[in-house]
Amino acid sequence: MKYCSRCVYPAASAMPLSFNEDGVCTGCQVADQRRLIDWDSRLAQFHRVVDEYRCGNDYDILIPVSGGKDSYYQVHLATKVLNLKPLLVTYHANNFVPEGEYNLQRMREVFDCDHLILRPGEGMLKKMNRLGFRLQGDMNWHSHCGIFTVPIQVAVRYNVPLILWGEHGFMDLAGMYSYDDFVEFTAKFRLEHAMRGYDWDDLTDEGLTRLGRPELAEGLEEKDLKWAQYPSDDELDAVGVRGIYTSNFVPWDSNRHVELVMKEYGWRPSVEPFERTYRRFSSLDDRHDVGVHDYLKFVKFGYGRASDHSCHDIREGQLSRSEGIEHVRRLDHVKPVKDLARWLEYAEFDADEFDHTCDSFRDPRVWNIKGGKWVKANIWGTESDYGDVCLSAAETAAFIERRDQLKEGGDGQRNDLKRKRNERAPEAIAAL
Ligand SMILES: [Zn+2]
Repeated sequence: MKYCSRCVYPAASAMPLSFNEDGVCTGCQVADQRRLIDWDSRLAQFHRVVDEYRCGNDYDILIPVSGGKDSYYQVHLATKVLNLKPLLVTYHANNFVPEGEYNLQRMREVFDCDHLILRPGEGMLKKMNRLGFRLQGDMNWHSHCGIFTVPIQVAVRYNVPLILWGEHGFMDLAGMYSYDDFVEFTAKFRLEHAMRGYDWDDLTDEGLTRLGRPELAEGLEEKDLKWAQYPSDDELDAVGVRGIYTSNFVPWDSNRHVELVMKEYGWRPSVEPFERTYRRFSSLDDRHDVGVHDYLKFVKFGYGRASDHSCHDIREGQLSRSEGIEHVRRLDHVKPVKDLARWLEYAEFDADEFDHTCDSFRDPRVWNIKGGKWVKANIWGTESDYGDVCLSAAETAAFIERRDQLKEGGDGQRNDLKRKRNERAPEAIAAL
């Protein structure tokens, strides 16, 4: 496995990543670009963009918020620096940590802003946890869908054309776009990247039958998933909905946001440490995000949130690469015992089925099987085993066959994804 020579990202990353001739990843290259930008001129440009949307008697802007440090920073910018009247919108997925819930509920107090919070029914959310996990190895798929759908629905219903997002994750972490692209939110990003090509109608009983997975049916119908349904092109055009990213206009640094929002607004980090990363100020809106959800990233791709956080901190000059590697060695592989126990109980899921389902998502570019154990190469140069294989003999043989095919030059998994994308109707992936 190839790793970036500057940060700790592997070539088989969850996001598209490539390397230059010095072995530096696109994420690090775009981070370099950020240091050369004239941010005063970008802020002036930010003012010009939002000035076009100022209204006398209505909301000027819609801000999707989770109550996290970045949300606070965005609302601080909008209200104190840009002098806008925002409408705050939250998709609430039911699993905030206590400090996260505290921070979320206080936004309308400290900023004196109107705040709409949509909380889907708990029974349906538990079904979505099980479905997302069994279908895609991602119990939080519903969150990706809700976060990138509910604010757009509200923008249409309240006639607020301009949406202010934080950073573009694929750009910030993996360098998918340049700062000169001024990338904006699209329906294509929502569907193909955030939601991996699946939309809400794939998770109804009818949709699962269409996907050839009727055994996963949880009894969901169209009316159960109103919160997941993206507005039509006509609805979007009528309002002129547009989503811009704050990180294109101001130097975006989560570590600085934490300092500012704790000092100015009494924002609270998590008191209890997370099992899989060294940070306490990220993902407070979902206790499983850096727990079982992130463990699945290690299962699939061989790295986790400690790698993500280390890459960010290395690029900001706050961590050396060797310190980052130590975080990876200590945390990336950890099976989050406490968080997993909580999720199994919450989603009413069997522990053995959990392990078996995990193993069905192992990426053969990363994993090998030796003596009944999962084995992979590490960034520090050795190979380690990471637990027992929980597949049947036939499934094990199929995995080894896929791995052998890859070694011969094929790329089975990516072709599967490409095939699925091509099967979708073109109107479903129309740009916003
Ligand atoms: Zn890098």
